[in-house]
Amino acid sequence: MKPTYKKVERVLPPVAPNWVGNGFRVHNFFPSGYKISREMSPFYLLDYNSKIDLSGSEKPRGVGVHPHKGFETVTIAYHGVIAHEDSFGNKGIIRDGGVQWMTAGAGILHKEFHEEKFQKGGGPFQMVQLWVNLPAKDKSAPPSYQDISHEDKGVYESSDGLIKVFVIAGDYEGVKGPASTFTRIDLFDIVLHRGGELTIPVDSFSNTGILVVEGQVKVNKEKEALQDHFVLFNSKGEGDTVKLFASEDSRILFLDGDPINEPIAQYGPFLMNSMEEIQEAMMEFRKGKYGHLE
Ligand code: MN
Repeated sequence: MKPTYKKVERVLPPVAPNWVGNGFRVHNFFPSGYKISREMSPFYLLDYNSKIDLSGSEKPRGVGVHPHKGFETVTIAYHGVIAHEDSFGNKGIIRDGGVQWMTAGAGILHKEFHEEKFQKGGGPFQMVQLWVNLPAKDKSAPPSYQDISHEDKGVYESSDGLIKVFVIAGDYEGVKGPASTFTRIDLFDIVLHRGGELTIPVDSFSNTGILVVEGQVKVNKEKEALQDHFVLFNSKGEGDTVKLFASEDSRILFLDGDPINEPIAQYGPFLMNSMEEIQEAMMEFRKGKYGHLE
């Protein structure tokens, strides 16, 4: 059967940025910028720090100690260096396309700062943070941490050498990614040279989107997507293929997953199924149940 394209629902320009702490100048594509968290489930939030040039600073840049519960934070550092530490004793540095996949699950405290040397020296900075929801049965999973360097990703390379798909989670053409996930997710870091054309098979009912991190691509031979734009695809059973043609040298973050069809209650850093569970989380946090972190 001939493949059919998964319809482009919307091509979304970046909304005005806001600062997360004093370290991350992010465009919140969802849930606030565009109300598409349901269409992108299990991805609940996408914060994108488009590329900025930072001058050096003596002052730390970032977000101090704060809790999370009920989901996972996935941080990708394209440019610049991020230092992370949590109340379960995990520490890490994210850089050069590296990914940190933190399962907050039952509850954790962490802090996210620019790494000290990068903070002092400055330079280009570009990153993504995703919040990946967890189904009710896994919301109280033990907190954990996957530190995935760019080299750890699975790599698919096209025979013409114009395309590399670095697989973070899921698989592309049999190449698997290192991240372990609670629900089915494909998360790809795609590098396309100008003129490269990539075909990605997708489930017609899965939730699919791409973020153009660099360059410009033509999607499904139809819609141009410019740098820093997000493309939302139809998930109602139309089409089984996404086609990306590189109009320029490009880097794309591809997100695809099976939706979690459960009620959502969000308050600040907590993502649960009901307001009662949110109140419980706030109580646990106040009682110090998420551990200790300076
Ligand atoms: Mn956080």
